[in-house]
Amino acid sequence: MKMSKMSVKPEKQAPKDAETINHKLLVQAGFVRQLMAGVYTYLPFGLRVLRKIEKIVREEMDAIGGEEVLMPMLHPAEIWKKSGGWDNIGVLFKLKSRTDRDYALGQSQEEVVTPLMREFVKSYRDLPRMPYHIQWKFRDELRSRSGILRGREFLMKDMYSFHLDQADFDKFYEIAKKAYLKVFARMGLEAKVTEASGGAFTEKVSYEFEVLTEAGEVNILYCDSCEFCVNVDDFSTIKQGDKCSKCGESTLKPSVAAEVGNVFDLGQKYSKAFDLKVATNTGEQVYPIMGCYGIGISRTMGVIVEKFHDDKGIIWPLGVAPFDVHLIDIQQNEKAQEIYEVLKAKGIEVLWDDRDINVGGKFTSADLIGCPWRVVVSERSLATNEIEVKARQSDEPKMMSVEQFVKNLQSV
Ligand code: ATP
Ligand code: MG
Repeated sequence: MKMSKMSVKPEKQAPKDAETINHKLLVQAGFVRQLMAGVYTYLPFGLRVLRKIEKIVREEMDAIGGEEVLMPMLHPAEIWKKSGGWDNIGVLFKLKSRTDRDYALGQSQEEVVTPLMREFVKSYRDLPRMPYHIQWKFRDELRSRSGILRGREFLMKDMYSFHLDQADFDKFYEIAKKAYLKVFARMGLEAKVTEASGGAFTEKVSYEFEVLTEAGEVNILYCDSCEFCVNVDDFSTIKQGDKCSKCGESTLKPSVAAEVGNVFDLGQKYSKAFDLKVATNTGEQVYPIMGCYGIGISRTMGVIVEKFHDDKGIIWPLGVAPFDVHLIDIQQNEKAQEIYEVLKAKGIEVLWDDRDINVGGKFTSADLIGCPWRVVVSERSLATNEIEVKARQSDEPKMMSVEQFVKNLQSV
């Protein structure tokens, strides 16, 4: 992509009203624009990052048997009344049509997916099933001042699983947890599997995937010697300094974290509410056990920025960067065009700053946008065919041939 053709340009200053790093950097670098608190436009750079995160999530959900669908955002009020959510879920956005009918905007999709699966799932032979989708969600959040970490409109992957019995659910629950850790690791994030309350409807424990960051809103206690981690916002019995109940080695340490995903055992709440029954192999009719599995796609993008940045800008991990290479030419437009084409032909994603501005401004933009590699085409490149390559987090540029650079990238 050529920057001269883009409407969006990186700004000199961060927006004054921004309180969090992700909000500041994502707006300043030209990834998003805020329409109102909690509602954002994703601009070309931002959209590319969202799509990369989606791709990783999609690949890992497909790998554990997920079946991708796309369910609607606009819901009839009846399904929310049936589950009790209409009166009990404070964040549910409700609307009225001009014919005085009530509707809700999807804040989650149990109410849609359960009657949907009722049409297809009739016997034990049809289970397990794991439909999922990646869709915008709407929540009437009271406070939305943490950039894209808490949106009133935000992108979520939500998977729902349907099982004949608890044992089959338990097996899949573990598989899903492992897949979640893989998803976050592929984005460079270390997520802690955190015990949390199962929400308003159940006594059961749920598991949140928490990334340690000051920008988060969750208080956790974690153990240094094992993977134990607990959300203490609703678990008042466990205290800082307590011995880890799992390994007994260390005392629990406090931290603030952001929830990037979670998994719930829904039991039979929704299969009962929507009368979804299946026949067992003896002909008995039973309500399947359900699970739900969410990942905040847009929140995760914000968390990545909170974790990976310096005073000059964002430092995107390889798998989610908007482009692999940020190409800058020092008035060697034709040579840069040639190298741009060569890199693209090798499948490398290149952002070329071909704007007619001074080179210092181009370097500043490259640091702010944060692509993993900066490549400079200078006068020397004309004579030697070499380019200057610098990793975003390094201070030491290296000269190398285009061929060598391509080889290096392909071996990462
Ligand atoms: P939170 O505790 O942060 O309010 P939640 O527990 O209500 O979130 P879920 O309903 O389980 O979240 O949604 C699944 C995932 O969607 C969460 O793990 C989080 O990553 C993301 N998410 C939830 N609410 C928001 C929001 N308002 N903005 C952006 N992402 C969100
Ligand atoms: Mg939560």
